Amino acid sequence: MSAPEISFEFSAPRDDAARDKVLTVRDKLSTLDPEFFSVTYGAGGSTRDGTLQTVLALAESGTSTAPHLSFGGDDDGFIRELLSQYQSAGIRRIVALRGDVPSGTGPGSHIYADELVTFIRQETGDHFHIEVAAYPEVHPDSTSPNSDLAYFKQKVDAGADSAITQYFYNADAYFHYVDTVTALGVDIPIVPGIMPITNVDTLLRFSDKCGADIPRWISQHLMQYRDDKASLQSFTTDLVTSLCARLLEGGAPGLHFYTLNQSLPTLRIFRQLST
Ligand code: FAD
Repeated sequence: MSAPEISFEFSAPRDDAARDKVLTVRDKLSTLDPEFFSVTYGAGGSTRDGTLQTVLALAESGTSTAPHLSFGGDDDGFIRELLSQYQSAGIRRIVALRGDVPSGTGPGSHIYADELVTFIRQETGDHFHIEVAAYPEVHPDSTSPNSDLAYFKQKVDAGADSAITQYFYNADAYFHYVDTVTALGVDIPIVPGIMPITNVDTLLRFSDKCGADIPRWISQHLMQYRDDKASLQSFTTDLVTSLCARLLEGGAPGLHFYTLNQSLPTLRIFRQLST
C-alpha cells in the first residue's frame, strides 16, 4: 500500500491579516509533508479576491495549492479567466463544486459540480487534477441516497480524478459509501474529509446545516466538556485520531483536514497518530 496522501484545507481569508495567518499555519503544517493545501471559495463571489490572493501567495512560495471553484451565478467567461490565472500561476489541481450560493445570488446557466468538471475539461484539457466532493452521509439537498450516488458518478464520469468527502465521525458510513460507489463502477480515490473539533457550538450548528451526523454519544460528551477546554481537547483529539487510524487501516487513500485555519488541532492528531 502506498503512503496515504495528506492534504489541508484553508477557509478563504477575508483580509490581509487573515491571509498572513494562513501563511503561518501553512508553514507549521508543511512539516507534515502534505500533498497539497486547498483554499475554499465563496460561491457567488463572497471570497473571490480572498481565495485568489491566497492561492497566488501560497503558489508563489512554492506550495502545491488547490483552489476551490464554483460557478455560483458567474458566467463562463469569468470562470474561464480564473482558470487561466490559475494556469499561469502554475496551479495543477482544482476542487470543483456547486458551492453553497448565498441567497440573493441568481443562478447562472451552470449550477452543478458535474457541469463545472465538464467545463474545466473542455477549457483546459488534462491540465488540472480535478477533485470533487462526496457525501458518505448523503448531501442534505438530495432527494434520495441513490440519486446522490448517481449524481456523484456523473461528476466522476465528467472527468474528476479524485474526491474528498464531507466530514463525518462514523467510519462505517465512509466504508459503505466507498463499497457502494465502487460497485457502481467508480474507481477514483475517495479521501475522507476530517474535521478536528475545537468549538462545540460551531460544530453542532454547522453539522446540522451540512448534513454531517454527530452520533449521540459524541454530542453528549461534547456538551459535557463544552466549557472545559482541557477535557474537550483530550476527548476530541482521541476521538478524531481513532477515526483517522481506523480509516487508514481500512484502506482510505489519504486524509484531508478541514483546518479552519488553525495548525494546533491538526498537529495534535498527527502527533497522537504516530505514537
Ligand atoms: P453537486 O455535486 O452539484 O451536488 C449538489 C446537490 O445536487 C446534491 O444533493 C446532488 O445529489 C444534487 N445534484 C447534483 N447534480 C445534479 C443534477 N444534475 N440535477 C439535480 N440534482 C443534482 N462550499 C462552498 O461554498 N465553498 C467551498 O469552497 C466548499 N468546499 C467544499 C469542499 C469539500 C471537500 C466539500 C465536501 C464541500 C465543500 N463545500 C464548499 C460545500 C459544498 O459546496 C456544498 O455541500 C454544496 O451544497 C454541494 O456542492 P457539490 O459540489 O457537492 O454539489
